[in-house]
Amino acid sequence: MKHPVRRLALALAVGAGLLTPAAASAAYPQQNVLPVWPDNANDASANIGDIPYDEIAPKLNALQTASTRVSARVAGKSSGGYDLYAVVVTSPETDAETAQQEAWKQLIEDDPVRARQDPDLLAGYKTPLFVNGNIHGNEKEGTDAIMRVIEQWATSTDPAVDTLLKRNRIVFNVTSNPDGRVANTRANAAGYDLNRDLTIRSQPEARLIADLIVQHKPIITLDLHGYVNPTLLHPSTPPHNVNNEYDLYIKHGLPNALNIETGIAALGYPEVTRARIPFRDDAPGVWDDFPPIYVPSFAMLQSSIPYTIEAPLQPGNGADRVRRADIDTDVHDVAIKTSLKYIQDHRNEVIFDQAEGYRRGWAGEPLRDIPDGFVPGWGPEDKYNTTFPRAYVIPAGTRQHSAPAAKRVVDLLLASGGRVTQAKAAFTSGGTTYPAGSYILDMHQPKRGLVNSLLEPGIDLTDRVDDLYAGPGGWSQALTWGATVDTLWEEVPAVQTERIHSGVATGVVPSANTDLVLDPQDAEDVLAINALLGQGVKLTRLTDGSVLIPAPARPLAATQATTRGLTLKPAPAAWSGSTIADKVVVAYNGGSEVRDTLAALGFEARAVTATTLTTTLTADVDVLLVGGTLNPATLNAANRAALDAFLARGGGVVGLGTAGSAFSTNAGLLTATGTAAVSLASGVANLVNEGGPVINGAQPWAFIFQPSWYTNLGPNAVVEQRFAADPLLSGWWRPNATNTNGQAAAAGQASIVRGQSAGGTGVVLIGTSVVTRLHAKGLQPQLGRALLWASAPNATVTSVESGIGGTVPATLSLALGAPASFGPFTPGVAKEYTASTIATIISTAGDAALAVSDPSTNAPGRLVNGTFSLPQPLQGLGTVKTWTAPTSNEQATVTFKQAIGANDALRTGVYSKTLTFTLSTTQP
Ligand SMILES: [Zn+2]
Repeated sequence: MKHPVRRLALALAVGAGLLTPAAASAAYPQQNVLPVWPDNANDASANIGDIPYDEIAPKLNALQTASTRVSARVAGKSSGGYDLYAVVVTSPETDAETAQQEAWKQLIEDDPVRARQDPDLLAGYKTPLFVNGNIHGNEKEGTDAIMRVIEQWATSTDPAVDTLLKRNRIVFNVTSNPDGRVANTRANAAGYDLNRDLTIRSQPEARLIADLIVQHKPIITLDLHGYVNPTLLHPSTPPHNVNNEYDLYIKHGLPNALNIETGIAALGYPEVTRARIPFRDDAPGVWDDFPPIYVPSFAMLQSSIPYTIEAPLQPGNGADRVRRADIDTDVHDVAIKTSLKYIQDHRNEVIFDQAEGYRRGWAGEPLRDIPDGFVPGWGPEDKYNTTFPRAYVIPAGTRQHSAPAAKRVVDLLLASGGRVTQAKAAFTSGGTTYPAGSYILDMHQPKRGLVNSLLEPGIDLTDRVDDLYAGPGGWSQALTWGATVDTLWEEVPAVQTERIHSGVATGVVPSANTDLVLDPQDAEDVLAINALLGQGVKLTRLTDGSVLIPAPARPLAATQATTRGLTLKPAPAAWSGSTIADKVVVAYNGGSEVRDTLAALGFEARAVTATTLTTTLTADVDVLLVGGTLNPATLNAANRAALDAFLARGGGVVGLGTAGSAFSTNAGLLTATGTAAVSLASGVANLVNEGGPVINGAQPWAFIFQPSWYTNLGPNAVVEQRFAADPLLSGWWRPNATNTNGQAAAAGQASIVRGQSAGGTGVVLIGTSVVTRLHAKGLQPQLGRALLWASAPNATVTSVESGIGGTVPATLSLALGAPASFGPFTPGVAKEYTASTIATIISTAGDAALAVSDPSTNAPGRLVNGTFSLPQPLQGLGTVKTWTAPTSNEQATVTFKQAIGANDALRTGVYSKTLTFTLSTTQP
C-alpha cells in the first residue's frame, strides 16, 4: 500500500533535520521518560557542588511528573554516547493550539509581512527563548542555572510565572556537552571544541544545537559559558560577520546586555559588580562575532539575538569552590530571566524585527548602512557589509567538480535553514548552460545572510583588524568543500524549479564493459576505493593519481558509484601505474582531526607515537602519516630500528605542516624547510596547481589555518602545488614580528611537495590545512591521493591498447590491411592467417613481462564483426615475452594467428578486437 503524502512529509523532516511531523503537531507537554544513567562517582561536577550528569534525567523525569509545563526528550547522543536532553518549558496547549503556534512560527519566516500584521499572532504567539548550556564541558554552571530555572518555572504558583509561560516557549539544551561535563574537559569525547563546529557540524552535539535553533526560531539565544571576570556578555567587537542585519540585532542586543549587567550587579556579590561587554569595552578583534562557527554568530544569521555569557569565577579546587560555582549559577540565572523579561517588555518589536530580517531577505534589499551612533559606541570600525548576489548555481553534470561534494554543501545549506531548488530542465544563465538537476539558490530568501555566509568567498581582513578571537578569517564552503559553485550577480535562472529538502549525488557508470577509472576528487571517492580494496578488488593507482578498477569488478564499482554519487569513466587506452593489492594501512601520529580525517577517507588507521613504533609499524603498514612532531633522532634504539625497517621495506611517508617536513628532513628522505604562518593566519588561500598524482584535478583554493610552506627543497623534490603570488583570497594573515612568515614570504612557495628518497620511500608533504577542525572537505581527497601514492610510488604495470583485425572484402580482390592486420579473410578456404605488430619496449625494471589480452566480454578471445564472431579463437594472446634485465628501445614482434576453416561462415565487413598490451614487472 502506498502513502505518498506521508512519504513526502518524512522526506521533508529528514532533509531539514526537523522533528518528525507527529512530534511537531502533538500538544504540549510532550513528555518522555528519560533513561536514567548509573551513578558515576567520578563525575567532575560534584566536586564543585554542580549537578552530576547522572542526576539530570531523574530530576527532569520528576519535574515532568510534577508539572504539565515541562517537556523533555532525548534529542541526540553525544560523541561519547551520553543522552542529550532538550527541554521545552511552556504552559500546556491543546493539539490545535500547538498546531497554531507552529503555523505562526512558520508564517514569520514564510510571509513576514503578513505575520507582523496578524493581530492574533502578535497577541498569541509564544515567543521562543533558547538557552544552550555547558557547551564547554568544564564550564558547568549554565546547566545548573538551567535546571534551577526549569524547576522554579515547573513548580511556581506565582501568577506572573503562569503568564510568562502562556506567552513564551523556553527551549533548553540542558548540557550540550555531557562528555566534557563528566570528564571536566572543554572538548567532547572525540576531542572537538563544539563552539567551533556550527558551520562544519562534524559533531552530533553541534548538529543538535543548530537543529534546535533552526526549528524553534528563538528571539534570543543564550550560550552559557565560563569563566571570564568580570562577566563577559555579547555584543562583540568587530569584525562583525558581513552578512548580518546588524541594526536589527544591536538595537536589542546592547540594551539587554546592559539589563543583564544591572541584574548581576544587583546580586550583591563583591566579585560581580559589572560586566565586560566587548562591543563597549574591548578593542576590535579581541572578541569578535565574525565566523559563524560559534553558537551566537550562527544564531544571529537565523534572525536571533544571541549572547555568549561567560560566568565570572573559575571554581578551582579551593575551599570556596562551591561558593564560586554558585555565584556563576546565579549569574546565568539572571541572564536567562533578564532575557525573557526583555522579550516580554519588547514583545511586538522583537517579533517585528525577527520578521523584518526575513522580509529583507525575501525582498532582496541591500544591507543597511548603519549610521555612526546608531547605538552608543557604534562607529566606522563596526561597519562590515557584503553585497548579495542574485543567485548561486551549483551545477549538475560535467561542470561540477564533484557531485558528492555538491551534495554535501547543499545538505549543509538545507540543514542551516537555507532554501534550495533544483532545475527541472536545462537552462542558460550568465552565459553558461547548465543541465537539469542543477541546484539553484535564489538569494531572495529569508535566511539569505546565512546562505551567503557559507557560499561567498569572504573578505581579506588583514588590514582591518590587528587580531581575531579564534578564527578562521575565511571559510567559504563554496571554495573549500570541493564543489563547483557559480555566482550569478544579475539574474536568477529562468527555469522551472522544484524545492528540495536533501541533496542528491547521481552516480555515473559508463555502459561499455571495460576497465574503469575513478579520479578521487572527494572523500567519497576515496571511501569507495578503500571499500573496493576491502572487498578484495585489486586496483591500480595510475601515475596521474586516478585509480583503475578492472572490468570484472564492475558490479562492485557500480554499487559504490550509485550509492555515493561517484563518476566512473572508461579506462584510457594506455596507462601505467602501481598495483594496490590490498587495503592501504596507515599509521599516524596526531590528534582527533587526523584520526577522523583518515576515517572519513576509509583508510585502516592506527595511532602511533614515538614510543610505540615497535609495536605499531607492523609489516602490514603501508604509510606513516606524520601529523605531529616525530623526531627520528630522539627515538630510542628499538623504535628507531622499527622506523628504519619500515622505510627499508619501502613504507611511505606523508607529512603535514612543519612537523612533516622536519620528520622527512631528519629521516633523510626528502629535505625541506617548513615555515608556518602565525597561529591565527586563516581563511581561503589562492594556489597554483603544478600537477602530479596528488593534486591533479584539484581546485586552486584551500582552507588554511596556520598554513605551512616548504623551501630549500632537496633535489628529489617535485613541487605539485604552490601558494599564488597573492596567497590570501579571504581571511586574515599577518606576519610575525620579524616579518618572516607573512603572505609575502609564502608567495610562490611550495605547499605540496612529492619525492622519492634514495631508498625508494615515497614522501608527500602538505602545507595546507587538510585536517583542521575537519573543515577542509575539499582537501581530504588530496590527502587520500597522497597516501595512495606514497604506499607504492613506482609504476609497476603499463598497459596500451591496440586494434587487430582482418577484412572480408565484398569481392575477391586483394587489399592491403593496415599494420597489425591479417589482410582479407577468404571465405570457403581453410587457411591460417598471420599478422604481427611491433612493440617497442623500454624498461628499467629488474624483470618485465609483455602480455596481450582481450578484455572484452563479447566473445572473449575471438575477432568479432558486429554480433558475429569468428568460430576459431585468435592465437597469440597471453604472455608474449619476458625479460630478466632492463632494456631500451627494444623492438619485440608480437605475432597473431587466425585460423579460418573451409566451412566457417564469414560475414561481410571488418572482424576486429581491441586488445590490451600489458608490460608489467615485479621488481620496479
Ligand atoms: Zn566556553
